[in-house]
Amino acid sequence: MDSNTITVGVLCIQGAFIEHIHKLTTLSSTDKHRDLTITIVEVREPGQLSDLDGLIIPGGESTTLSVFLRKNEFEQTLKAWISDKQRPGVVWGTCAGLIILADDVVGQKLGGQVTIGGLNIQCTRNMYGRQNKSFESAIKLHHPPLHAAQPTSAPPPFSLADDECHGIFIRAPGILKVNSPDVKVLASVNDDNIVAVQQDHLIATSFHPELTSDFRWHSYFVDQIKQHRYPQY
Ligand code: GLN
Repeated sequence: MDSNTITVGVLCIQGAFIEHIHKLTTLSSTDKHRDLTITIVEVREPGQLSDLDGLIIPGGESTTLSVFLRKNEFEQTLKAWISDKQRPGVVWGTCAGLIILADDVVGQKLGGQVTIGGLNIQCTRNMYGRQNKSFESAIKLHHPPLHAAQPTSAPPPFSLADDECHGIFIRAPGILKVNSPDVKVLASVNDDNIVAVQQDHLIATSFHPELTSDFRWHSYFVDQIKQHRYPQY
């Protein structure tokens, strides 16, 4: 087995999927992942899930995403794939993707959101208000493997410490509660607002790392895939 070759799917139904694909494509320009080969699959059909080592559910609009996930048994196939203990792919939900992965969603439109679940958190949609309340902020990284700084070509309009990253919040969901000790807090804003979590093979961020020039989150995601796929790595 070659731990430097992985297959990553990006759910390409709606939202910021092109930006994630761009990030994954350019990850090999970083020193750390120079030897990594990522086969990227643009996932639009449930049948494409079976060969993946990892999947990104991008941000966008969870209600719209859900309309498509309800077709062709996509929802059921995704649920089964995520909970397949034999070969769990690592799944990363950003923003709307976080809502889809949460076990408990407050403020859900009646019948609006598909909740695949698996992540034992309670979240709420649009925690910070409407589109015009979207904002950028420094985020505190609680997890040392996320600290190693990668060069950024366009620094954010505020200074960052090594244990911080640039957060872009667009009608972002909030994580209200972590309901299990198995859920690890990866990052927060203003100490008390949790904005990134991980429970085993599921990662969720309420902001959009794919819209910044920082590679750390995508780098962490592929490291997690390698560890799950090749435990000896
Ligand atoms: N608030 C949106 C929703 O409920 C998510 C926003 C985003 O993904 N940027 O789907």
